[in-house]
Amino acid sequence: MKAVWFPSPNDVKVGTLPVPDLGQGQVLVRVKASGICHTDIEVMRGNYGTSTYPIVPGHEFAGEIAEIGADVSGVSIGDRVVVDPNLQCGTCRACLRGWAHLCEDLGAYGVTVNGGFAECCAVRADAVHAIGDMTFAEAALAEPMGCVLNGLSPLQDRIVERAIIFGTGPMGLLMGLALKSRGTAEVLMVDRVEDRLGRAESVGLRAINAGTDEMDRLTRSCDLAVDATGVPAVVEKLPEYVGNGGAVLIFGVCPSDARIAISPFEIFRRQLSLFGTHSLNHNIPDALELLKAIGGGVQEVVSHQLPIEEVATVMAGRHLPGSMKIQMAA
Ligand SMILES: [Zn+2]
Ligand SMILES: [Zn+2]
Repeated sequence: MKAVWFPSPNDVKVGTLPVPDLGQGQVLVRVKASGICHTDIEVMRGNYGTSTYPIVPGHEFAGEIAEIGADVSGVSIGDRVVVDPNLQCGTCRACLRGWAHLCEDLGAYGVTVNGGFAECCAVRADAVHAIGDMTFAEAALAEPMGCVLNGLSPLQDRIVERAIIFGTGPMGLLMGLALKSRGTAEVLMVDRVEDRLGRAESVGLRAINAGTDEMDRLTRSCDLAVDATGVPAVVEKLPEYVGNGGAVLIFGVCPSDARIAISPFEIFRRQLSLFGTHSLNHNIPDALELLKAIGGGVQEVVSHQLPIEEVATVMAGRHLPGSMKIQMAA
């Protein structure tokens, strides 16, 4: 089967690998859509602590069941599915609390086990979720949307009338769409890239150029400020944009050695909440429902659908102008 793989850090190959043999409890997914995520690039560079080599990357993928292993029930050949990539141990302290995504031994398809940038991928049968008649491209957004839902989970029933999101890439845009769908009246999307701002406006979100003085007028005006840039200097400024009692969500991936200055007095006096969230925690079914509820707007998140050979060139560093979520299409 055709596949992209990283033989070792900083090396990308595209070519033919054997179709994986199925173990007990596994199914073979014939991949139809697979999204490139920043995590894949970090895995390629060897910056993602837990990754192993050689590895087929890809943790945002949907396809059809092509083969069923021993001791599997409830799925049939031809079923249209999306994969929950997280592989939790099930027995550590976090797992016992229901926090699969915080498992002390967390693995994932595309990070520690071969993933979705291949014609086929062997996965645990309990990792697949039926997608009905949703397109594969949309279903492959269920994993990133699952991360958005896990990101919003600490808010519980908080009233969020106005939210500001820094970074209008695929994750920022999905976050904006999710908040709008959750009932936030005004979602402000901040970026410096004009065509990304245009995409945000086209789906009914308010776009603001980070370089304009409109930013000054937003001081302390929001209930929630989200970082979807991974830029520490942006994260540092988030508390300025929330009113008293507001919440700050650290959602983007900052460099692991970055540090920021925060005023503990301000957090105390203005009763601010600071949350960080990581990955997703069994959020795929809710993410599929949400994607359906949002409808056509989610298509704005995907900018490119490429054959596998071109995916490899993107992994190797080729820049595609105007790109948002780039997917492999098969
Ligand atoms: Zn991802
Ligand atoms: Zn665990």
